[in-house]
Amino acid sequence: MKLQSLREEVLEANLELVRRGLVIDTFGNASAISRKEGLVVIKPSGVAYDRMRPADMVVTDLEGHIVEGTLRPSSDLPTHLALYRAFEVIGGVAHTHSRSATAWAQAGRPIPCLGTTHADYFHGPIPATPSLGPAEIATDYELNTGHAIVRTLAGKDPLAMPAVLVASHAPFCWGSSAAGAAHIAWILEEVAQMAYATLVIHSNAAPLADELRDKHFQRKHGPAAYYGQKAGS
Ligand SMILES: [Zn+2]
Repeated sequence: MKLQSLREEVLEANLELVRRGLVIDTFGNASAISRKEGLVVIKPSGVAYDRMRPADMVVTDLEGHIVEGTLRPSSDLPTHLALYRAFEVIGGVAHTHSRSATAWAQAGRPIPCLGTTHADYFHGPIPATPSLGPAEIATDYELNTGHAIVRTLAGKDPLAMPAVLVASHAPFCWGSSAAGAAHIAWILEEVAQMAYATLVIHSNAAPLADELRDKHFQRKHGPAAYYGQKAGS
């Protein structure tokens, strides 16, 4: 069987979304890519999480042709593939309908950067796509969702802004791996809830100062990052 360890990693990321309470029923999916082989591993469509096994994961190429697997891939596969094709630095994608992040997506509102928790992971407001038009919905809907995300992120580093809210739908998140993407989905939900609560308390709460935003993002992610422990220590 191809990509055994990547299959296990993708299964684990999908289970992590459930464990974190970000996915109920089958409202979510995670995938990962082997850049070396040009192959994507994704959750199968509509299989119960408690019965899912690494062998159930579906392997496709970057055009969506099934390379290995007997089950149908998640119906959001074309969205994941559009992100892998456009963002060469990413290694994993996670999609959930987690409650607070989805509320912002349904409102079509970017999540403003109101505090350092947000800035530790997202360098600025988390953008929302424009609504898809009737033609984009009628044909290749999932692919067009991916294109809308890519257009919304134009000019930004996908690892500095690892999530986009799809209008009227829900967030898509990514990272250097499937585990990284699932982690971002978890943090996004917390940040979405914090922003909502902040604006309930104070509807004109000021965005984080640029200096503080940059300080928090760079200390975790910049070339001179110093947050946490050094690798190997
Ligand atoms: Zn969805």
